[in-house]
Amino acid sequence: MRILPRGEIESLERTRVARLRFPELAGVFSDRASRLRSLAESSPLADYLKLMAVLADAQQRALREFTPPAPDAKQVEQSFEHNMPPLQPATAPRDAPAVLGLLARLLDDVIKADGVPAAAAEACAALRKRVDSAPEGIEEIADALLAAGYDSVDVDPAAAPFVMAALQVYWTGMAAAFDKDKVPSGPFGVCPVCGTPPVASVVRIGGKYDGYRYLCCPLCSVETHLVRVTCSHCSETKGIAYHHIEGGSEAIKAETCESCKSYRKIFYQNKDQFVEPVADDLASLALDVLMGEEGYTRSSGNPLLWQARGD
Ligand SMILES: [Zn+2]
Ligand SMILES: [Zn+2]
Repeated sequence: MRILPRGEIESLERTRVARLRFPELAGVFSDRASRLRSLAESSPLADYLKLMAVLADAQQRALREFTPPAPDAKQVEQSFEHNMPPLQPATAPRDAPAVLGLLARLLDDVIKADGVPAAAAEACAALRKRVDSAPEGIEEIADALLAAGYDSVDVDPAAAPFVMAALQVYWTGMAAAFDKDKVPSGPFGVCPVCGTPPVASVVRIGGKYDGYRYLCCPLCSVETHLVRVTCSHCSETKGIAYHHIEGGSEAIKAETCESCKSYRKIFYQNKDQFVEPVADDLASLALDVLMGEEGYTRSSGNPLLWQARGD
């Protein structure tokens, strides 16, 4: 083995794309909250975006005090050997009381926050009662959301974003504490840490991420590099096209694939440095409508917006 002189190591580092981008714990949810608030200023969904901003702020506070459970070392080893995401909901430890505790905390925060519409506060209070009186029902919602692949679900769509928010805090905390050397490359199209399909992708700016595209996990908040002009659903590289709303932001496009006829949104930080995948995806529903009219199917949903099955 030859020991590389320092300059050579640095140039190697520069040419190797960082495969994973772990969330900045200090701002993962509060950045989303700020972005939701600023997008609300010019959105027909303003009230909903503001409510989700209150929720995201509550998530940030909950995350700060949350101690994630340690994953099972043997399970982690086995996942690595089999190239499977180690924190998949099906196999990772889910401490049910911890998730319920997070949900109760988030709801208490939202209920007493300023500017929450009365109807939303009442719905939160009703859900909060269920956390104490019928925790099994909440567990069932959590199971359904984690199994849904972020599509439509057979649960109350008004409760879903709040239960999901608790799961996001839980999984983001676990992912952040996870040994980065134990993350396998994983199967194509899902987060290599938790196995969830991405909500959208972002072409990042700055430092070692500059100009590279990352798929963003809506559950554990880890981002994974994917070469640009590649379908994030089926990995095809031919027949990829980009669409955006005429006169709308250049930072938001839909990447479509002729092979599987699906699309996912892609955001460009060099056009708008504050893009945030979950917030910007939620606030650009007009692009979803357009893509639906063009005959493309959305690859996976948004963690803050759920449709009841059959809608
Ligand atoms: Zn993930
Ligand atoms: Zn495709």
